[in-house]
Order: sequence, then C-alpha cells, then structure tokens
Amino acid sequence: MFDDETVDIVCPNCGRKNPILVRDVEDHSETRVNCHQCGAVVKVDAEDFRRRLAQVRQELEALQLEARRAGNSRRPRKDNFQI
Ligand SMILES: [Zn+2]
Repeated sequence: MFDDETVDIVCPNCGRKNPILVRDVEDHSETRVNCHQCGAVVKVDAEDFRRRLAQVRQELEALQLEARRAGNSRRPRKDNFQI
C-alpha cells in the first residue's frame, strides 16, 4: 500500500537527506544508502526503520487532523458573510 512512498534518510556525516523507497527498506533486514552528497554509507536497520516509520505516520496523521481542524475554523462560513 505504501509501495512508492519515500522517506528521507539523514546522513550522519553531512546531514544531507537522502530519499529512499520504503519498499526497498522493508524488503531487506538491512539497507545501505550511499549519501548523495558525501558518499558515506548509511545503514538502515529494517526493524528500527519500521518503528520510526510508524511514529512518523502517527505524527503525520496528527498533523493532518490538526490542519483539517484549523482549516475548518479559518474557512469563512456562510454566517460570516453579509448580503
Ligand atoms: Zn553525507
């Protein structure tokens, strides 16, 4: 379901974010990403990754909920218009 979803892996060496496919990580117990900027090899542990991904998704959902709520309160309602 999240096949084409990408996540950013932050290089511990230079801080550059390297986007990788979620699918690629979940298919292996360990994934190595070559940093696009400095070439450092960043190891991604699938277990750890899954845990972090779950957290990110929860935070995202919370953010989306918040945005929706904020959007609703800011959207002009019919009552606010005078005709
Ligand atoms: Zn780097």
